[in-house]
Amino acid sequence: MTKTIDKIIKDVQEIPPYLFEAGSLRSLGAILLQKRVTDSDYALFLIDHYFQGHLDKLGSLPVCKQDWIHFVDTKSEPTTDDINILRDRLLECDKESPVAVIGIGGGATMDVAKALSNLLTNKGNAEDYQGWDLVKIPGVFKVGIPTVSGTGAEASRTCVMINPRNAVKLGMNSEHTVFDQLILDPDLTRTVPSNQYFYSGMDSYIHCMEILNGSHRSLLADELSVQTMKLCREVFFDDDMKSSSNREKLMMASFLGGLAVANSYVGVVHPFSAGLSAVLGVHHCMANCITMTAMEEFYPKEFEEFISMIERQKTDLPQGLCNNLDQNQYESLYQATIVHEKPLTNALGSDFRNILTKEKVKELFLHM
Ligand code: ZN
Repeated sequence: MTKTIDKIIKDVQEIPPYLFEAGSLRSLGAILLQKRVTDSDYALFLIDHYFQGHLDKLGSLPVCKQDWIHFVDTKSEPTTDDINILRDRLLECDKESPVAVIGIGGGATMDVAKALSNLLTNKGNAEDYQGWDLVKIPGVFKVGIPTVSGTGAEASRTCVMINPRNAVKLGMNSEHTVFDQLILDPDLTRTVPSNQYFYSGMDSYIHCMEILNGSHRSLLADELSVQTMKLCREVFFDDDMKSSSNREKLMMASFLGGLAVANSYVGVVHPFSAGLSAVLGVHHCMANCITMTAMEEFYPKEFEEFISMIERQKTDLPQGLCNNLDQNQYESLYQATIVHEKPLTNALGSDFRNILTKEKVKELFLHM
């Protein structure tokens, strides 16, 4: 058990109020009605760009004429600049005081909604709050509605962003980054493309296997992790991973896994995955899966299980992504990986730099 990381988690993460039921999106109107006191009160809808032109996939959203809808481009991971630019646009059109911010989409959209909600009530820029407990004022009332399962962003107390100036990928880790209301509606994951469904779902599995192999342990995070991994196995060893009962299971796994990771730390996979995202722009969940292919020596059992599941689901995964990079890129990959001290300490102990030397890190990236 390491004291440095011990001190970070002061309180057990609060569980956001949630609805969990197929069709529960229909309750959003009633939730917003409680916030809309005057006729001019408006809400901000941040919706994954996947739904642009296909809003019908979400059924009828309770959008009023004064509300503001923004489609979040999730092709790449959110940056601190993205959040600052969104805030500036809202200031320009006098929409900086909404009664609610609603995030509808995958992990990236959840994170943008949380970050924007916090930035609207706290001064400065998004990068000023990357770290632990730097957000001092509660954000705007925020509602999270995931449309893909796995990242656990709906349950976490952080919102991951990349600062393009120093390539650091870090969230606003704070009690104010927890959603005020969640709507978990498994009907919403019906149209997720199969590859993405697998990559995202594996994020839950990977969070929890990293927790269970780490040194920073709590009974709460352990039990949540065991249950999450059990659900993931049921889904990904099944013939139809997207059946309605499996979509329900995976949504629950995502939520439980998110709570587990909020009360613990990840391990070796996430720092390498963050390197791939920060330097090569690979999406988080796919980057995790790519990283898993080089993790046999750190997580032999889970490596084997991961390979069985990906084969079972016939999921495609890019290979050889880090071959033929130049020296600067390898250096950036190393820096963007090794900077994640807390998870690496959790997994390998405080002398992790002696295990993950520059040469070793490069070798592992070449293996992906
Ligand atoms: Zn993750």
